[in-house]
Amino acid sequence: MSNSSRIPVAVLGAAGMVGQRFISLLANHPWFEVAVVAGSERSLDQRYSDAVTWRLPTPPPAAVLDLPVIAPEAAFDAPIVFSALPASAAQAIEPLLAERGHAVFSNASSHRMAADVPLLIPEVNADHLALLVTQRAKRHWPGLLVTNPNCSTIQIALALKPLADAFGVRRVQATTLQAISGAGYPGIASYDIIDNIIPYIGQEEEKIERETRKILGAYQDYLIASAPMTISAQCTRVPVREGHLACLSVELGRQNVTSADLIDAWRAFNPEPQERLLPSAPTPPIIVREEQDRPQPQQDRDAGGGMAITVGRVRPCALLGHKFIVLGHNTIRGAAGASLLNAELLLARGTLGSDGNPV
Ligand code: NAP
Repeated sequence: MSNSSRIPVAVLGAAGMVGQRFISLLANHPWFEVAVVAGSERSLDQRYSDAVTWRLPTPPPAAVLDLPVIAPEAAFDAPIVFSALPASAAQAIEPLLAERGHAVFSNASSHRMAADVPLLIPEVNADHLALLVTQRAKRHWPGLLVTNPNCSTIQIALALKPLADAFGVRRVQATTLQAISGAGYPGIASYDIIDNIIPYIGQEEEKIERETRKILGAYQDYLIASAPMTISAQCTRVPVREGHLACLSVELGRQNVTSADLIDAWRAFNPEPQERLLPSAPTPPIIVREEQDRPQPQQDRDAGGGMAITVGRVRPCALLGHKFIVLGHNTIRGAAGASLLNAELLLARGTLGSDGNPV
């Protein structure tokens, strides 16, 4: 696809934390071009440059700054929609847009666990896209809806996938240290988070536990059978701007597996997006660091343009057999970049035509 024939896309919630990441990642995207930006009533009819009350360090392209902000329910022409809406708004708006024929790629939690909605990580469960046949037939949608997981779940499921394939995974204990950008903007009051750790993020532990099992589950008879593994999560918010870190202990399905075997499994992992050289697919998708003090948010969150996850401190665990630490960029790999990769996969597979419309 040449730059001159880029597919027009819409970004919903374009002025928010994830929305601005979309705008920044799309600025030089080879296949997609921002044509529509949507926001809440607060922003309606303003130019995007006026609706954005704060800015990521990467400046949006001039053409986007001049776009008028429309309501997400308004009629518009872009075939592909990237949604960074809060779950409360996404609940009704995303299905409405799929019903109108758009291909909707959502970051919101509203539809992730619906039986006919793929909860997609292209490196992990591209075969779950088979759900779209059922989804579109049952709901009579000319369009479609694909979701990406919670920002901590993405990196946890991606790190577990090569281990599940090679050895089986029975039990996982996950403790997260999550960045403040995960709470959106303005998010948490500075007085509450500076010099502090908050040991509760609403619904986050439940999302990690149920989403990981769906993602690592098997497609059977038009449904996903959740993976038969037990996951226990504890989530904390820490005073870091970007980059979620998760400390995992894992019980594998096989005995006599060494830390070196885990590292070999991660390094050998070369799934479909990397084989297809999709524009947002990092190579490698999983970076293993063997230094004692990595991964760190400041050092490792931007690996692979923010799309690679970094694993480190791989060692035996006295309780479950193996433990390690994984880090990912929450607003890129955990949100906007994940949605872009999802859309790229559907285009590369021909589920979306070269004009971006669902086939
Ligand atoms: P945010 O910073 O609060 O931004 C949300 C945006 O949605 C705002 O810009 C707002 O527009 C817009 N909005 C709110 N209500 C709306 C409505 N009724 N109609 C249209 N637009 C509306 O939140 P965020 O962190 O970007 O999160 C966006 C979504 O991504 C959420 O579902 C979140 O759970 C999910 N997510 C976030 C992360 C992360 O790391 N932050 C990671 C994964 C998934 P205005 O600015 O115009 O008022």
